[in-house]
Amino acid sequence: LQEVSDAAALPPSQTARPHLAGGSLEVIGLDMAYGPLQVLHDVTLTIPAGTVTCIIGPSGSGKSTLLRCLNRLVEPAGGDIRLDGESVLPWKPDRLRRRVGMVFQQFNLFPDHTALGNVALALRKVQGKSGGDARTLAQRQLAEVGLAERADHRPSNLSGGQQQRVAIARALALQPEIMLFDEATSALDPELVKGVLTLMSELGQRGMTMVVVTHEMNFARSVASQVVFMDEGRIVETGPPDQIFGRPNSERLKRFLSEVL
Ligand code: ADP
Ligand code: MG
Repeated sequence: LQEVSDAAALPPSQTARPHLAGGSLEVIGLDMAYGPLQVLHDVTLTIPAGTVTCIIGPSGSGKSTLLRCLNRLVEPAGGDIRLDGESVLPWKPDRLRRRVGMVFQQFNLFPDHTALGNVALALRKVQGKSGGDARTLAQRQLAEVGLAERADHRPSNLSGGQQQRVAIARALALQPEIMLFDEATSALDPELVKGVLTLMSELGQRGMTMVVVTHEMNFARSVASQVVFMDEGRIVETGPPDQIFGRPNSERLKRFLSEVL
């Protein structure tokens, strides 16, 4: 209620960016294997609504697999995932994906559609919007990520940073409660990273529940509510950024930080 009355007192330019009320996720004893290779071992993690969780760790430690489980792109072998207290594993994956959006390193935009077309297509396919409604909403969402002027460009005529912002707009247009980011800036030229990180950090400040796999330690340090360090398919340490970066407990985390910082 406080949010609402504060927003009502703001000038229109600021009320255009509403507070986003996120859902909560609980991951309980999650196991996952690719054939004989077990890659997640008993992963347990609480992600409160409206918080930003950053997942760090060496390559191959299972970070992407964990995110993929959270969006049911792969099926866990054991354990549970609960969204606002309810197990999502009996759900059809599409039901979950309407509430949990995901952004990938490689954007995954359709090359033959414009920026607007990519966002509108998702609204039509996932939400069954009519063409006109989808385009109106898509245009508004592109404006939200600063791409109003680029709506009629195809991905090949956009920078990597702009393509990634289209991918974020496409996910946000579906009004997810939770957003998953898997190394969203790793494929970008260095000068394009900042714009995408700024957009992600604004989303976090507006209360979106986010799970962010990242190599950007400064982002994790300044934006995360909690940081999760994974190694060899297990969570080794979890804590607020001050603790993870300033007072790491395990030798494995100390070694990892000495290599990346
Ligand atoms: P990270 O994102 O931390 O680099 P991943 O979740 O991608 O780690 O990978 C964890 C482990 O699972 C690695 O050993 C990787 O080689 C393996 N792996 C990832 N994807 C597949 C797959 N599709 N099939 C078989 N093994 C995979
Ligand atoms: Mg990965």
